[in-house]
Amino acid sequence: MKVPFLELKPTYDALRVELDAAYHRVMDSGWYLFGSEMAAFESEYAAAIDVGHCIAVANGLEAMQLALLAAGIGPGDEVIVPSNTYIATWLAVSQVGATLVPCEPDDETMNLDPVRVASHLTSRTRCILPVHLYGQTANVPALRALADPRNILVLEDAAQSHGATCGPRQSGALGHIAGVSFYPSKNLGAFGDAGAVTTSDDALAEKVRTLRNYGSKVRYHHEVRGINSRLSELQCAFLRSKLPHLEAWNQVRKRLAARYLEGLAGVGDLRLPVTAQGMDPVWHLFVVRTRRRDALRQFLSEHEIASQIHYPIPPHLSGAYRDAGWKAGDFPLAEHMAQQVLSLPIGPHLSESCVDYTIDTIRRFFAGGR
Ligand SMILES: *Cc1c(COP(=O)(O)O)cnc(C)c1O
Repeated sequence: MKVPFLELKPTYDALRVELDAAYHRVMDSGWYLFGSEMAAFESEYAAAIDVGHCIAVANGLEAMQLALLAAGIGPGDEVIVPSNTYIATWLAVSQVGATLVPCEPDDETMNLDPVRVASHLTSRTRCILPVHLYGQTANVPALRALADPRNILVLEDAAQSHGATCGPRQSGALGHIAGVSFYPSKNLGAFGDAGAVTTSDDALAEKVRTLRNYGSKVRYHHEVRGINSRLSELQCAFLRSKLPHLEAWNQVRKRLAARYLEGLAGVGDLRLPVTAQGMDPVWHLFVVRTRRRDALRQFLSEHEIASQIHYPIPPHLSGAYRDAGWKAGDFPLAEHMAQQVLSLPIGPHLSESCVDYTIDTIRRFFAGGR
């Protein structure tokens, strides 16, 4: 049995009629940027997560960059980021010229740990940037308790958590502002690059709207030095077709995750994902940890089960930050996780029998003492 890690074509097959209609609607309109599809998607996504504003942008990296720019965060300002994240989180901070302050995660949830964050606060801290890693929201209420009295911005990296909740609130509506990615493989993905900024702060929303379009509200009047981060009408129309299905797709992920959690309990030295109290994750990835990660991955591959590593190199040890002075041992938790994490296949493309076969194969790996 072949178990693919990810398959995007089945989504197109399932929604072919709606997506083809969306394509023809846009093509026939003769209007390809800043039109009715973007306006509609923005209000539909804002309503879905219960925020005042959604501003569609070109991708998730620029969404976070724009959020930081809108808040006036730049050189001399410190931004607290997780030491274990996809490099985009760090790059957004670097792009605005602010100072990265990496913080080790909670060892159980692998999300930012508010107690550790507290120890990194200084008079220059302007922003805390939690990542809802693998689809589970970080403890944003505890981070807000630190940030709000000090006038510090909480910017969510909500690229992996569409539809996840923390208590009664949705990912993207927990901080002061959030950056979202609709990269094709995300829980809600476009057919190409796409992203958004979400916020209920009217002033920040207005700034992001201006900044994403060359700093202009009125054509050829440039109030600030913005960037070009436009999202096409086509991608907005496709996202509108997919948004009503997000909840059902997330339910499939939750069922498959529950199956993994039950089937893999107590197997070998496997550490299974831990869900913190009050969180309802959407399982963008199902990440286990084991000392024998590379051998397990090899064994799975021999049995035609695809797996991936998110992420094999923590940002501080990547070439991108070679000149920044960090070295091995600086963030031991992140480094340890990079050596042990393994993402098992999960997603609406997978059947329960694929998951059962994967569970069975993992059990055989550990039973065989390999
Ligand atoms: C995908 C992702 C991003 C970046 O999104 P892009 O749309 O690829 O720019 C940022 N942060 C995290 C955690 C991601 O997974």
